[in-house]
Amino acid sequence: MPLRAEIVSVGTELLLGQIVDTNAAYLSRALSEIGITLHRRSTVGDNMERLLAALNEAMASADVVLTIGGLGPTMDDITRDGLAAALKDPLQLDENIADRLSDFFRQRNVPLVKSNLRQAMAPVYGRIIDNPNGTAPGLLFENLGRIGIALPGPPNEFIPMVDNHVIPYLSAKTGGVGAIRSLVLRVAGVGESLVEEMVKDLMLDSNPTVAPYAKVGEVHLRITARADTPEQAAELILDRATLVRARLGTSIYGENDTPIEGAVVELLRQRRETVSTAESCTGGLVAQRITDISGSSEVFPGGVVVYSNTAKTDLAGVPAETIARVGAVSQEVAGSLANGVRERFNSTYGIGITGIAGPTGGSPEKPVGLVYLAVSGADGCEVEKANYIGSRSIIRQRASQTALNMLRLRMLLTV
Ligand code: ATP
Ligand code: MG
Repeated sequence: MPLRAEIVSVGTELLLGQIVDTNAAYLSRALSEIGITLHRRSTVGDNMERLLAALNEAMASADVVLTIGGLGPTMDDITRDGLAAALKDPLQLDENIADRLSDFFRQRNVPLVKSNLRQAMAPVYGRIIDNPNGTAPGLLFENLGRIGIALPGPPNEFIPMVDNHVIPYLSAKTGGVGAIRSLVLRVAGVGESLVEEMVKDLMLDSNPTVAPYAKVGEVHLRITARADTPEQAAELILDRATLVRARLGTSIYGENDTPIEGAVVELLRQRRETVSTAESCTGGLVAQRITDISGSSEVFPGGVVVYSNTAKTDLAGVPAETIARVGAVSQEVAGSLANGVRERFNSTYGIGITGIAGPTGGSPEKPVGLVYLAVSGADGCEVEKANYIGSRSIIRQRASQTALNMLRLRMLLTV
């Protein structure tokens, strides 16, 4: 049976923007994976009238309403009473939970106040959901052909309850049918509009769907398929991914959570090659990204941050004469950095980056965002000129991205 769900997050903290609703995002993902359609998510403060309005509205169109937060013992924790009223599934004291709570407080030498017993109230028609990581159990209400599920706010309590109880329970309700799977193909070196142009016709299909998301220096293409079984969904995705790959070719550097530095380190390892870096405006960001990847020691002997002209000469062998003639931010210096560092570290490839990250330091001839990037190898040195737009950190991020992608493409082209 297909189920429609709504999530109501409860908490004034959420409305004030003091915390971000990571729980709702987590739950949305988990529900979609078992084929439950989420129709709407809403957020209300700790106010009974508005909570009831939100719950009644949700109940009018959904089979399952899940709430997040507001299950604690204090006055502003109103979700328990709200759901009981909305579902007409009244609460009664559960002696077992009350005993457990009393023990809990006795062991900690804390007096149990009456309000704590609110956490021992359970729905008459429904049941409680165990919470091994906190005092407030979750609650499952069932009445009027509807299901209401109340989950606590603290993520260390919330997540295990979702994984161990809510998802298995709802999955059984749907009869296990209906699965949604998705795959992210990560694209570098091609802008968002061009990527969109290349897959435009596929974006019109409703199953599987294909949607591009612009990130800093790359585009993610999410393919999502819905089917009766996870296997069928996976098959739909595989077919669609093959089609997308045929169109985008080597622009696709990886899948799902693999960042480009991960793809680069993997390629270097497979080829038993190494890279070293000489960075000016990126201040070591490329080196940092490479060394973020476990196993990078095999492929990265080291790098230098060469901010001053003297450092460029002393540490990467850029002739002082070249800097004097064309300036530090130039094609020649980028190339010389890459060649120099490759030689000094005796690596297969060298990366050289020089540019103006801003926001100050630009000039009409050399504006903020101008960056020269070079990759040097046995068969020569290739330099690219880029004009990035954005803040200092965005410019640095984009530059590191381009450099990593240049190295990646260089490896794909040299056998
Ligand atoms: P408690 O018993 O701790 O009061 P509760 O179920 O009443 O739990 P809330 O009081 O609503 O939950 O929230 C407690 C804490 O849990 C918040 O301060 C916040 O740190 C975290 N939290 C609440 N809701 C969310 C959410 N939707 N996403 C992420 N974290 C949340
Ligand atoms: Mg609370």
